Amino acid sequence: MDLIIRHARLKGQAGSWDIGINGDRIVALAEEIRDAGNIEVDAAGNLVMPTYVNGHIHLDKCFLQEKMRPNKDYTFGECLELTWEHKAHYTTEDILERAGRAVQEGILNGTTVFRAFADVDSYTELRGVEGLLALRERWRDVAHIEVVAFPQEGIVRDAGTRELLEEAMRMGADVVGGLPWFEMLDDEARAHIDFCFELAKQYDKDIHMLVDDTDNPLSRSLEYLAVKTLREGYQGRVSASHCGALAAYNETHAYKVMDLLKQANVSISSNPHISLVVQGRYDSEPIRRGITRVKQLWQHGVNVFSSQDDVADPFYPFGRNDQQEVVSYVCHTAHMAAPSEIEAAFDFVTYNAARALRLHGYGLEPGCKADLNVLAAPTVREVLRLQQPPGWVIRAGKVLAHTTLQREFIR
Ligand SMILES: [Zn+2]
Repeated sequence: MDLIIRHARLKGQAGSWDIGINGDRIVALAEEIRDAGNIEVDAAGNLVMPTYVNGHIHLDKCFLQEKMRPNKDYTFGECLELTWEHKAHYTTEDILERAGRAVQEGILNGTTVFRAFADVDSYTELRGVEGLLALRERWRDVAHIEVVAFPQEGIVRDAGTRELLEEAMRMGADVVGGLPWFEMLDDEARAHIDFCFELAKQYDKDIHMLVDDTDNPLSRSLEYLAVKTLREGYQGRVSASHCGALAAYNETHAYKVMDLLKQANVSISSNPHISLVVQGRYDSEPIRRGITRVKQLWQHGVNVFSSQDDVADPFYPFGRNDQQEVVSYVCHTAHMAAPSEIEAAFDFVTYNAARALRLHGYGLEPGCKADLNVLAAPTVREVLRLQQPPGWVIRAGKVLAHTTLQREFIR
């Protein structure tokens, strides 16, 4: 065999396991594989999981913190304005350099799948899409990068964006993005969603929108998105990120919307670290957390996932492109701290995210792609407690990264 991982722990299973890999596929899973591997990796009793999946990240904007004016109040409007000054001047080389650093950091932290949003609007036109399509090509051998054509300034309110989005899809973008709640009127938010569906159907692509990213209970584009998904027969092909307003609805209306989401099989990405920073900015104390109803959605049977979203950009000053850190934020902000809840939250950056992106061959059974992490601890709770990167990152059956941590206690 090309590669054997020895002495692995598997989530939800007792015992010690060997995982055999030939080419880019898992071919054997047994308590002991008797063959020898050309390469052998000792998991030493630590957890082995399929790769982390980051289903929502703005790779065109990452590391703008290094050159932008500082934020003053982190309102959504200010974050947008700070981006205008840079995105008009993006070049492909500039995006490849900044985004490449973020992708490399992500891989070292165990993520080899990225759904990357490229702004498409009257400021940057198609510069972001050009940069991220080039990034997708440059990193093709070691990462699965999807490019979302994302109307960050709205569609109705930003003249010319319809045509730019059409061109972005012709150029080869993978996913149709959206930002309906940012339109000025409810009817225009609906027109925004309608246009995105037309475009997605024309190119037979999935849809991923940033929806109701506000704690304003009057923001109601999520229910329209769910109903539109049902009526267009797009169940399972639509994701919505943020959806903070859902948390502000009254219980009766919130349950109606959650029922619709479940029926329409819309996946919801909560990216809690950025919601903590950007939401609640008009609250005096107590300040809301800004996340959607993560735990209720999960309990309701909606596919919930979680993403890094931003790395050192105008919307968020930190971010290590680290999905383990993201899960930790989920556990804290969504009150998912009981053992079964921690296990479930860990699926938000693995199996649930893979389901939202409709990844083929994701998992740990023979026949699945050998895109795996040998994590730094034996249990999910310990992985999250210690927050150490995976010891080994494997992609398509090849070792991509190895991390050892050396610390010395000197008394
Ligand atoms: Zn985002």
